[in-house]
Amino acid sequence: MTIRQLRNYIDGRFEDGVSTFDKRSPVDGRLIARVHEAGRDQVDRALRAAQRALPAWTALPVAARTDYLLALADGISRRFDDFLRAEIGDTGKPVGWAGEIDIPRGAANFRAFAELARTLDMESYMTDTPDGRQALNYAYRKPLGVVGVISPWNLPLLLLTWKVAPALAFGNTVIMKPSEVTPSTATLLAEVADQAGLPAGVLNLTHGFGPDSAGEFLTTHPDIDGITFTGESATGAAIMRAVAPGVKPVSFELGGKNAALVFADADFDAAVEGVTRSVFANCGQVCLCTERVYVERPLYERFVEALAARARAMRIGWPMDPDTEMGPLVSREHREKVLSYFALARQEGATVVAGGGIPVFGDARDEGAYVQPTVWTGLSEQARCIKEEVFGPVCHVAPFDTEDEAIRLANDTRYGLAAAVWTQNLARGHRVAQAMKVGLAWVNCWFLRDLRTPFGGSGLSGIGREGGRHSLHFYTEPTNVCVKL
Ligand code: NAD
Repeated sequence: MTIRQLRNYIDGRFEDGVSTFDKRSPVDGRLIARVHEAGRDQVDRALRAAQRALPAWTALPVAARTDYLLALADGISRRFDDFLRAEIGDTGKPVGWAGEIDIPRGAANFRAFAELARTLDMESYMTDTPDGRQALNYAYRKPLGVVGVISPWNLPLLLLTWKVAPALAFGNTVIMKPSEVTPSTATLLAEVADQAGLPAGVLNLTHGFGPDSAGEFLTTHPDIDGITFTGESATGAAIMRAVAPGVKPVSFELGGKNAALVFADADFDAAVEGVTRSVFANCGQVCLCTERVYVERPLYERFVEALAARARAMRIGWPMDPDTEMGPLVSREHREKVLSYFALARQEGATVVAGGGIPVFGDARDEGAYVQPTVWTGLSEQARCIKEEVFGPVCHVAPFDTEDEAIRLANDTRYGLAAAVWTQNLARGHRVAQAMKVGLAWVNCWFLRDLRTPFGGSGLSGIGREGGRHSLHFYTEPTNVCVKL
């Protein structure tokens, strides 16, 4: 089998890096690609190319610019199977999930932001002036400039395009730095851009790691105009320090320790199914996944048993098998982290109701990064396993007695990303959802997204919101024009 070479894309050309590193499959450990790491000089050249391309890109009529975005969306759709194989190869995620979520949403991001850019209105005010006349104020929006997009490994194409699409739509040029763990779909996106005839320098790709590599070279570059980042909270803090000297704008979508609240009046089956999905989807590796479940006491025992039964029955397997519900974690390294929390939970006094270990297959998958879907009970609310993000297929379930207590427990975290409320009492659903200290609160659903809505978190979960016109606000800067009439 030939090993794919994943190169950088700078100023409209594919380039080797200064060194290469291996990308291995999380399913069976086999080598699947060699990735070309960009050096400091290459990141600098990408930035210069993006600067050169900026004036013409910004000056394009919106219709022409957004036509390019639609061409990128079409390019992804046309090469759907290539993207699907690349995403599954990098992550091991089940074909059902990648085929329904990652790849379609990757294309949808370009369509949604093309549509938004075409239909935007402009903020304006008529102002009375002391001489009895008026002034017209309007906020004329200009692109930030050259934007660095740094993305994680859990939803690689979806989260990359979620930022690349609005940046391009609103007239910026871009340098992408995808996760070193999942470099394949970003490379395909560069190929699609090349085939779509996107002008050289508008969209660049530099591969590599964070510290002392492409990530750091980008964030510390004095001429980058803004950084949009999705990843761990600690990395966000490092990037914030890196951009501080230049006071560059940042948009951060970071970690979570999300709660689900299940009230006794919930539709039981829907709540069990919904929480099962929110805990175990993508092997628990979605920033929005639930890691803390609070259940009203009359329902508690029954709910724990039903959730544990779903976890034990979960079909773990080959990603290309359409019956597979859960694939491996993204890498052996990440599995070490998740297993360390499995051990810590036992030390902290957890009862392991389901899972807690590594599945044994007796085939090549034993070389992969699989873990069992896991359910804990009995931990103190102060336990590290309740406070820290695990980012694996695991949750803790605890009982509560009153609505106030449920709200207090859910909000007792330094993160503030997402929450899900399960109840058939409409007023309570609104009330509790509004009381959640999070950027996204779902009632009787989870991960249901409208791309026009604000997305992001507070506290350790991030800074700012993207989505719809919230993206406009990050990727552009207004000049207020005041005209005396
Ligand atoms: P990570 O922070 O390790 O890496 C993310 C990206 O940052 C990678 O491209 C990496 O190379 C780069 N990077 C690392 N250190 C850097 C540095 N010093 N300077 C510049 N770049 C650097 O995150 P991850 O492990 O890839 O992703 C998982 C994390 O992402 C979880 O914490 C998850 O909750 C979070 N996440 C958040 C959201 C959200 O929308 N809030 C979405 C998905 C994932």
